[in-house]
Amino acid sequence: MINFTREQEDKVLEAIDLIKRVVSSDEFKDGVINNTYRGRRTFADNDGLSNEEIYQKILHGAETLSSSGRNNTMDLELELYYESANTIGYTFPNIVRIFMNRKYFNKFKPYQVADNLFHEWLHKLGFKHDVQSTNRRRHSIPYTIGYLVKKLAKRYTEIQAF
Ligand SMILES: [Zn+2]
Repeated sequence: MINFTREQEDKVLEAIDLIKRVVSSDEFKDGVINNTYRGRRTFADNDGLSNEEIYQKILHGAETLSSSGRNNTMDLELELYYESANTIGYTFPNIVRIFMNRKYFNKFKPYQVADNLFHEWLHKLGFKHDVQSTNRRRHSIPYTIGYLVKKLAKRYTEIQAF
């Protein structure tokens, strides 16, 4: 983690704890495997993969640029930066690092950080989406599964609060 204070690091660690719980849950498996797009059990921009194959690919955790292969781990390199534009985070296909905008990060709850982290990490597995805010983009793997992570992580956060 680059440019993070201790407190900001703690928020990322909380988000990662939530992601671990989410990804190992039956709800997550069901959400990925039963996702539908245009009336079919699929995602937009699925790279020719079935929902089952997408789920397995997530569990394998073999990032395109990583040499560690299927290590069942999210290999993450994160950098916090600031810009006033409405970008929550970004990365590029040819780099490992994920950039997160402090403008959003600081006000995000851990479950929202979990969404952003997972979205960007799905790009590290090679999944893509439209650049423009199209309807198709909302049904892409990074967006759909990022939202699924957020929904489940929020629920776990609320359970923890009791
Ligand atoms: Zn994206």
